[in-house]
Amino acid sequence: MTALRSFAPPIVAAVLLIAPFTGWLPDYWVTLFNYIGISSLVAIGLVLLTGVGGMTSFGQSAFVGFGAYTTGVLTVHFGISPWLTLPVALLVTMAIAAAVGAVTVRLSGHYLPLATIAWGIAFFYLFGNISWLGAHDGLPGIPALRVGSHQLIDPKEYFVVVWVAVVLAVIATQNLLNGRVGRAVRALRRSTRAAEAFGVNTAGAKLMVFVYAAMLAGLAGWLYAHFQRSVSPGPFGVVAGTEYLLMAVLGGAGRVYGAILGAAGITVLRDQLQNLLPWLFGHTGNFESIAYGAVLVLVLQTASNGLWPILFGPPPPPKPPTPRDGNQLPTKVLPAPGVRLLQVQDARKTFGGLVAVNDVNFEVESSRIIGLIGPNGAGKSTTFNLITGALPLTSGAIAFEGHPLQTQTPQRAAALGLGRTFQHVEIVPDMSVIENVALGANLLGHAGVFRAMLKLDRAEEAMLFATARRQLERVGLADVAMQPAGTLALGQLRLVEVARALCLNPILLLLDEPAAGLRVGEKKALAKLLREVRSEGVSVLLVEHDMDFVMSLADHLVVLDFGTKIAEGVPADIRKNPAVLEAYLGGVS
Ligand code: ADP
Ligand code: MG
Repeated sequence: MTALRSFAPPIVAAVLLIAPFTGWLPDYWVTLFNYIGISSLVAIGLVLLTGVGGMTSFGQSAFVGFGAYTTGVLTVHFGISPWLTLPVALLVTMAIAAAVGAVTVRLSGHYLPLATIAWGIAFFYLFGNISWLGAHDGLPGIPALRVGSHQLIDPKEYFVVVWVAVVLAVIATQNLLNGRVGRAVRALRRSTRAAEAFGVNTAGAKLMVFVYAAMLAGLAGWLYAHFQRSVSPGPFGVVAGTEYLLMAVLGGAGRVYGAILGAAGITVLRDQLQNLLPWLFGHTGNFESIAYGAVLVLVLQTASNGLWPILFGPPPPPKPPTPRDGNQLPTKVLPAPGVRLLQVQDARKTFGGLVAVNDVNFEVESSRIIGLIGPNGAGKSTTFNLITGALPLTSGAIAFEGHPLQTQTPQRAAALGLGRTFQHVEIVPDMSVIENVALGANLLGHAGVFRAMLKLDRAEEAMLFATARRQLERVGLADVAMQPAGTLALGQLRLVEVARALCLNPILLLLDEPAAGLRVGEKKALAKLLREVRSEGVSVLLVEHDMDFVMSLADHLVVLDFGTKIAEGVPADIRKNPAVLEAYLGGVS
């Protein structure tokens, strides 16, 4: 059954792609298939933007409009050949998306979808009110695409153009999603904190996705204009924008093929209701909109993850490329043992009236394990977040290898060689374990959008995955590398985070309660790993509640209580320190 389900999509796709040329399919349906293909392009962009990137847009139709009007104006008013207007249409959409996106993607929560509605409406009125765009009547007389002197007017011929574009868009988008930048985007939605801690530029990645989705919409607009041979503002309003969003959601937001399924579902449903309902109820009412809405609500209620998983089951995880021999990523040159790495000077953090970290001072030298201990609420995690740039300092200073970190961001901390884990695990549950770990190696790679789209990033990807696999082996999780991370137990996820942090090639590894939830055997293995890491020249700043664990490992301990450092020294002394005993045991010693 599952085999059948996984074979079904390629077979169905092959049948549908051949059908127009068999002569059995009426032109009416071929035309419908063309509109499905054009809408699919917009929906594929939305899968990336909304399903993967988590940015809900009701305004994609406006970008379809920019693509369509650009070629409309250039061909009708200036007589430019349609093939030449394609790059222009894409550039115009790109420029407008970059400008709109720069403002929009920074919005959070409900503000982002609301903003997309706002500019969707604004652009709709813009199209309808500019006289050289034909105002509300639109631009008629757009030429057909030509090959030589032959015009591509027959829907069967246009079918080839549209579906070549769709297939290319699917391949490019899948490649993009499976590459380094795609992983970063997939991580952003579920865990912005983790993505940033491994150097992902949040605003930049979101803007990239926004522009990419808009350009697919622009391409759809260009194809639409030359198929329809006229443009008017109607199809570029917010109603159409909502429909594109429904396509992406209905097919299964987050899946590229789902976009095509959703586009087909909605296009055919709308079309068939227009035929069926007048026949049932006569031509008196506008029933199709109501029936259409009702069917959609029903489907969305029963299939909250979209239709794709119901019909075809969950997708297999992408296969990481296998590394070739001799390809090794550069390793960081680690400082000599005993060099001063991290200096925390009078670090202070207040939350309103609460002093979470109270003028704390300590240092970390290279090749050392430093334990940061203290009762719950002592300020350990906050101190971590100050060092890694996740929180800004209220006052004081932190320096790493001589670089002052007063205004540091998590991305900069990552670039300097600070690799961290989180007390509350931050992983991407629907991404495989090895991809989660490979996110840690994000800064070791350089491939951008274009290299990923064209699959020119294979050698680099192979190296990143080899690094990820090596670190997974070190923490003993190589067996589960291909499983979705969400299926692992909490203790295992902590080890996944350790492996991810090690992928950064850190100079300083910051671990926030890594042993919590681990079994005795796993704790021993982790302790062994951390000693190994130290012997390689990496320093570790370790927050841990398990006193035996931290006392046996640490070279030096820093003890916090209510945000203030109350003691510092070697474990043997800290064990006997009256202030520490008082803090931990409430005076019973
Ligand atoms: P620890 O990790 O040592 O258990 P934390 O650093 O998490 O302690 O917290 C120190 C104190 O700061 C606690 O009283 C906690 O409630 C408070 N705190 C931590 N983060 C925040 C925040 N984002 N907003 C307000 N208070 C916070
Ligand atoms: Mg904590």
